[in-house]
Amino acid sequence: MTGNATRRLGGGSLVIATHNAGKLKEISALLDPYGMKCLSAGALGLPEPAETGTTFVENALIKARAAAEASQMPALADDSGLSVDALGGRPGVYTADWAERQWFEGDPGRDWYMAMGKVEGMLQELGPDTDRSAAFHCVLAIAWPDGEHAVYEGKCPGSLTWPPRGTLGFGYDPVFAPNGRTETFAEIDPSEKHAISHRADAFAKLVADQFG
Ligand code: IMP
Repeated sequence: MTGNATRRLGGGSLVIATHNAGKLKEISALLDPYGMKCLSAGALGLPEPAETGTTFVENALIKARAAAEASQMPALADDSGLSVDALGGRPGVYTADWAERQWFEGDPGRDWYMAMGKVEGMLQELGPDTDRSAAFHCVLAIAWPDGEHAVYEGKCPGSLTWPPRGTLGFGYDPVFAPNGRTETFAEIDPSEKHAISHRADAFAKLVADQFG
């Protein structure tokens, strides 16, 4: 955990700075036991800021601050992605961008197989003995309308495998095996993944600091 954590939410309304219904549902369920009433930035009609940061912390803060300023309520945002040690931390904040295939006319959307293949291609170019360590990161940022903020960083270390394995999960899950496991995140039951993931780590830190 980094940042200023002196301020506590202490119940009340919290804007979740996402336009993703799945994320809103997951975060609301996690914060409901602490008396937080979660509202979505999408439902409030708040604009989505450009994610121009170069770190997960910067991007989470950009989203949380924009929502707090526009709504005049405390706001929570998350930013996540995969960092690969041998690639200097890439794809990092560009994790989702590496799957974009909008340049193929008439075939928009994200292609995760392409994104995983890009990472693998870069690792193979570095040679057979290349370190395959990687980590999923999740940063949760809370911003208050007066500019105060708190940041919680979660991490799930592991290593990359090839070819992709498993059909559960999403994104880069089929090539990521968390430390201590031989299965990939896409072969591990979601309830088990949710207990050990980067998101679980960040949420545990938030809950301990804000509601502990
Ligand atoms: P965002 O935080 O919604 O911008 O997501 C960033 C990207 O990171 C996602 O689109 C996924 O590709 C990747 N990512 C984040 N968390 C996970 C995970 O738990 N499994 C697989 N991919 C993930």
